[in-house]
Amino acid sequence: MVPVKISEHLQGILDTLPAKPGCYLMKNAEGTIIYVGKAISLKNRVRSYFHADTGHDQKTRRLVREIAHIEWILVGSELEALILEMNLIKKHRPKYNIRLKDDKRYPYIAVTMTEDYPRIIFTRKLQWDGFKYFGPYTDAGAARNMVSLINALFKLKTCRRDIPLKPHERPCLNYQMKKCMGACLGLITREEYAELVGNAVKFLSRRRISSPPFQGEGRCSGMFFSLSTGSRVRPMAI
Ligand code: SF4
Repeated sequence: MVPVKISEHLQGILDTLPAKPGCYLMKNAEGTIIYVGKAISLKNRVRSYFHADTGHDQKTRRLVREIAHIEWILVGSELEALILEMNLIKKHRPKYNIRLKDDKRYPYIAVTMTEDYPRIIFTRKLQWDGFKYFGPYTDAGAARNMVSLINALFKLKTCRRDIPLKPHERPCLNYQMKKCMGACLGLITREEYAELVGNAVKFLSRRRISSPPFQGEGRCSGMFFSLSTGSRVRPMAI
């Protein structure tokens, strides 16, 4: 493949990139971070930007033209790289990370703690909403399955209907299928339901979903994260 013409400075950086997982920060001539990415092999990933650009879209070609300097941070795994990337993007808001700016890329499991009867849901949106978040996860399908499993196991409310139901309304099929305690029918008090949710959260905290994320429970930008066992990395304060 024909390499793109690059400065001696950049070539020197490309020559020293390690073939290890980590995040890379691309800067323009003014020293502003314009893109943050993650890679299993920094060496392969970062070098690929400077190969003949036939496979690159317009945005990537513009990015490559602007790169004047590259820094990187080594981490222990792909998952750690994902978390670090997310936090670096939140912190620096690089202009070429448009896709990531609203966090939609990362799957989470949220507990809607501000509702009278909290639900456990799959989401890609982190918000300052008082919900409790688990994740992010590397496998969206596994996270969705976990949400279904927990809801069925603990018989939690999955609908957004107001409780109690109006006289003419009926519970959904989940009640007939014994997958919901029937909060809408007043068959469980808020206190009893809260206990179920508490048990579900405990269960979720101990589960590994795909590649297991992190240890412990912590605050990140005012949002709660409950993170399961496995890694040394915790979300950074943003
Ligand atoms: S049984 Fe009632 S509370 Fe449960 S999910 Fe269905 S409508 Fe909602």
